Amino acid sequence: MIYFDYNATAPVMREAREAWLHVTEKLGGNPSSMHQFGTRAAIVLADAREKLAAYLGCNPNDIVWTSGATEANNMVMHHFSKKLAPTQKVFVSAIEHPCVDDSSKYYFGKRVKTIPITRDGVIDMEWLTAELAEERPGLVAVMAANNETGIIQPWQEILAMCQAYEVPFFTDAVQFIGKLPCKGLGDCDYVTGAAHKFGGPRGVGFLKIKPRSQITPLLLGGKQEGGRRAGTENTAIIAAMMAVLDVREKQISQSQHLLRKVWRDNFEAQFLRALPGATVIGHNQPRLWNTVSVLMPEGDRKSQWVIRLDKAGFAVSTGSACTTGKEEPSHVLSAMGYKSAQAQRAVRFSAGWETTEADWDALLKAVVNVHGEMQHKA
Ligand code: PLP
Repeated sequence: MIYFDYNATAPVMREAREAWLHVTEKLGGNPSSMHQFGTRAAIVLADAREKLAAYLGCNPNDIVWTSGATEANNMVMHHFSKKLAPTQKVFVSAIEHPCVDDSSKYYFGKRVKTIPITRDGVIDMEWLTAELAEERPGLVAVMAANNETGIIQPWQEILAMCQAYEVPFFTDAVQFIGKLPCKGLGDCDYVTGAAHKFGGPRGVGFLKIKPRSQITPLLLGGKQEGGRRAGTENTAIIAAMMAVLDVREKQISQSQHLLRKVWRDNFEAQFLRALPGATVIGHNQPRLWNTVSVLMPEGDRKSQWVIRLDKAGFAVSTGSACTTGKEEPSHVLSAMGYKSAQAQRAVRFSAGWETTEADWDALLKAVVNVHGEMQHKA
């Protein structure tokens, strides 16, 4: 089976397993304990914090470990719901992951102003420029890269605009971190990430907060993480996450992703030639090097594609959230102006660092075969 669903979750890397075992077996105390076991565990945490801060370009004190990005994203919305005046608005992009989208609606209701998306899948910067000139929201939330389409959002530009207006800027960088350089993300006021998208374990992530500020805890009952998140820190999975981020940052610094982008681009070019009527979403936009989000030719249904490719030995996805077994239409594609019938044809191929050129070639062959089978049946 060849795995093309890295944006959902990535296989756990050997480095993560080794780091986890090492910390569990050798450094397994509670980091809040005063004895030597505790001190050793506290050192593991402090080292991990320093490393992550160095990659992001921020102060280690601004990092809070969490159980993943869903928790971290909820923390941001919860915090601002306590902090902002009751009438103050928040601007949230139309393509956020449900854990940002739903939590912002839960905490702010009608006070959420949705930042529209262009047909190309990018934040409508004209809209944002005009709105920020008119009013100061309490928070602007725009993800760094979208999980369904891989389209990279202009977070540096948005950050500069927010800084000019002194509005806090929050970016969910879950799909960006571990694929592209972290550097610069630390300048954003709030940043979230999750290990399992880049080869670390599931159930661990972080929130980077604004320097010299506090965050209202979501979990109460302990003074861990400087009183910002109660609960004994899971030092072993935090160390595992950082062991893999080390590998990823090294691969990125050696520009290893550029070759992988070439393989992805070749796949796309051949795919478009082989399947007339298919579309690559955000084809001309800056995108993550691993993601291909497509609309299959008319008449095809995405679920059939996923099932048939699964039978052929390829794990692919429809891209949009499917947590209950019943799939909702993609809010990302509809924000881009695609009709529901078109979104029914969306399939996402998302590769990882371990994916080879031969894997892309094999996927192309399988896609062409499945397309042939479907035409034959029709
Ligand atoms: N944000 C984005 C962009 C994601 O893709 C995901 C995972 O699907 C999340 C947040 C949630 O992350 P976690 O699984 O760590 O809770």
